[in-house]
Order: sequence, then C-alpha cells, then structure tokens
Amino acid sequence: MNFHMDGSRPIPTIQQANDKELGVDMDDKIQGFSLLSNDSHKHWMEQAFREAEKAFAAKEVPVGAVVVLNNQIIGRGYNQRETLKDPTAHAEILAITAAANHIEDWRLKDATLYVTLEPCPMCAGAILNARIQRVVFGADDLEHGGCGGSVQLCSGKFLNHKVEIIGGILERKCQGILTSFFAESRQIKK
Ligand SMILES: [Zn+2]
Repeated sequence: MNFHMDGSRPIPTIQQANDKELGVDMDDKIQGFSLLSNDSHKHWMEQAFREAEKAFAAKEVPVGAVVVLNNQIIGRGYNQRETLKDPTAHAEILAITAAANHIEDWRLKDATLYVTLEPCPMCAGAILNARIQRVVFGADDLEHGGCGGSVQLCSGKFLNHKVEIIGGILERKCQGILTSFFAESRQIKK
C-alpha cells in the first residue's frame, strides 16, 4: 500500500521528534526527552502502524496502538468503532484493555502506549486512569487531540499522575494513512 506523504503538518507538538532527520538521536538534543532512543520509538510505532493498517482494511478510520512493557507488546488495538458499533472502541482503549487483561492488573504504570494519532480526550482519560507512564504518538490532532493538540489533559496541577508525552514519531507515515483513508472515502461518496 502506498500512502500519500503530503498530509503531515509541520506544527510542532510537545517534545517534537523529527522523523525526517534519520539517524539523529533526539536524546542528545532535548534534555529530559526520554531515556529510550528515537529508534526504539520508531520500532514500536511501526507495530502500532500495522494495527492502523488493519483498521484501514476494515474501512475504519486508520488508527492503531500498542502497549509496551519491558520491551514487549502486552496489548494491541485498532479503531473498531464501526465494526463494534461502539463509540469507545478507539485503538487506545482496546489496547489498554488488552494490556490490563494480559498482566491481570488495571495499573499499567511502567508501560508506554504507542499510538499513530494523538489520543482524544476520552483516551487521555483512560491513559490517566491506567496510570500509563508514557505516551508516544505519531500524527498531531489539532482539532480533537487531548495531549496538547487541542487541549492538554495529560499534565497539569490538577493531576496526581503525570504522563510523559512524545509526539511526532513516524508522523508523516501515520498522517499519510489517515489522509489516504479520507481521500478514498470522499471518492466513494462521489
Ligand atoms: Zn480516543
């Protein structure tokens, strides 16, 4: 599948990593960015992207997510809102639920959630409730994003638990599959 790469937005998110600068270790550039390398974030984001491809194939808005703990995927999910006829069936919710079931604990406190699109406010709430340590996302969602794109629900004085947010990992690829999906659905409607 060839995805258009023209859908990326240059507006930086929190701790923006630039996936165009291949081979650049952002850890050296941004203090407190993450102990994990940009390469490892890309590796796990590729896995989340595979989930997004499953959504695309199922004619769902292509967003995918994986939860990683101790260098291992413990939960996967892709958007299944139409298939399950469930407004809460976002990729992140399904991945978080699968992860919690897998480790038999609702607390995912040392886990990292990788998701191809910035989480919405509902998913930001689930991330906080699961006490996820870190969220790494691909494309920004400036309209509906709950991790800084539209509103910031993952940090603030009102929270006991703070989530580290890293945006912009494989951003163009993650945005590209969304752009292709919406271009195709517009064509079908014509
Ligand atoms: Zn969501």
